[in-house]
Amino acid sequence: MNCLELRRAVMVDPRRLDTEALAHAERCDVCRGFLADALELEAGLDAALSVSVPHGLKERAMGRARDDPRLSRRYALAAGLMLAIGAGTTILWRQNDPLALAGIDFVVFEESQAILDAKPSDPDDLARVAVQMGINLPWQLGELRYIGTCPFAGTMAHHVVLKTAYGKATLLLLPGRTQLSRAAAVARGLEAVVAPATGGSVAIIADSSRSLARIEESLQNG
Ligand SMILES: [Zn+2]
Repeated sequence: MNCLELRRAVMVDPRRLDTEALAHAERCDVCRGFLADALELEAGLDAALSVSVPHGLKERAMGRARDDPRLSRRYALAAGLMLAIGAGTTILWRQNDPLALAGIDFVVFEESQAILDAKPSDPDDLARVAVQMGINLPWQLGELRYIGTCPFAGTMAHHVVLKTAYGKATLLLLPGRTQLSRAAAVARGLEAVVAPATGGSVAIIADSSRSLARIEESLQNG
């Protein structure tokens, strides 16, 4: 099992992983962190859903519903709608983190302008920032197309464009923009991850989850 397969399994149900998935999480730091986040989110959802309803409310509702077939149907519809809203929120919450989504919007709407507007950038600066943040720049994965700095999400981002075997990818090193746990978004045909780094975070935006997973792993493993 690879990292991507593990993530898919975790998204389906982090509490019911098979032995192969558990073995992968055991030996892969990145996936172990991902699984821990998912389990924490799951526990948070459980807590949110187990808020007790006022005493007797359910019985009163059921009593009225029993007396009136139209009400029974209405309660069923309302319950179905609540479930749908709950499920929708969960999926959005899991997938579309605001900062990760901002990364996707940056690539779609602002990246080309940022490249045109950028000041000439010193590769040594980028290398130094990467070392400070504990990030291994994934040069082995592809061709470096661009490095520069630009404003992003209230900080000065180190902007890197890579061409990998799986397509184009953008990295935004965000010193000072701390992130407690890994976050992700999927939108506009792109996928993004924001991963915590020393004293900041790094956003990776790519057009395939394969490319994203490869880059994310090599950033942390060298
Ligand atoms: Zn893994």
